[in-house]
Amino acid sequence: MGTKFNRSVLIKLLLLQCLSVLSEAQDSDFFYFVQQVTDTSMSEAQDFDFFYFVQQWPGSYCDTSQSCCYPTTGKPPSDFGIHGLWPNYKNGSYPSYCDPDNPYDESEISDLISSMQENWASLSCPSNNGSTFWSHEWEKHGTCSESVLDQHGYFQAALKLKSKVDLLQILQSAGINPDGRNYTVSVIASAIRDGIGYTPWIACNVDVAGNRQLYEVYVCVDTSGSSLIECPVFPQGDGKCTSSVEFPAF
Ligand code: AMP
Repeated sequence: MGTKFNRSVLIKLLLLQCLSVLSEAQDSDFFYFVQQVTDTSMSEAQDFDFFYFVQQWPGSYCDTSQSCCYPTTGKPPSDFGIHGLWPNYKNGSYPSYCDPDNPYDESEISDLISSMQENWASLSCPSNNGSTFWSHEWEKHGTCSESVLDQHGYFQAALKLKSKVDLLQILQSAGINPDGRNYTVSVIASAIRDGIGYTPWIACNVDVAGNRQLYEVYVCVDTSGSSLIECPVFPQGDGKCTSSVEFPAF
């Protein structure tokens, strides 16, 4: 009985002491410091270090065994198309699906739709108007940069980057054409580096005949989504290219 009483009194005294220390600390610099550190790490949990801006060659999406379906709005131009603008961490990992409370809302980007149909074409089957692809990209990647770019800002940033990084024009000026011939990957990468001033990363896939081909080009962009930067880290893996790859027609 006596021991129980002593223990509960002791616990209450300890609790009282903790409360008084906390209430004193609330006014102190130390409490302010702890609060700052906590707030910063909470917000950084959703933050990111840079973007990958990824463009895709439609000919290489379509001539694979999975094939493709042109969007309901018609065959996309014979040009690289946007795959996505992806927030990434310097350690190579990336955040995804950061905010289920901010779903894709096409009414926010109605002024961009015709440019998206042209530059961010959906090629998956069944044929659709593009919304499925764009909403996937926004919800998986875009929501992780919403502290910097709202939905309109996100899609607009990607479209502006597409006109800044005109891959087809850069490659064609270097004599690299989508003509079904093979080109050396290091020559493709050098041409792009000379064209934009930064080193790209190249990913390949395989056509129905088993040939490796130029599939996607990654460049890095600062957290504002507007300026190209050197990539802090390249994607993991080797991009599945052989030293020379096909550049198929589309
Ligand atoms: P992500 O999840 O953003 O890394 O992108 C991969 C997904 O995007 C896969 O499901 C692909 O099939 C899809 N995807 C890639 N390119 C296209 C495209 N041009 N049209 C539709 N879906 C695509």
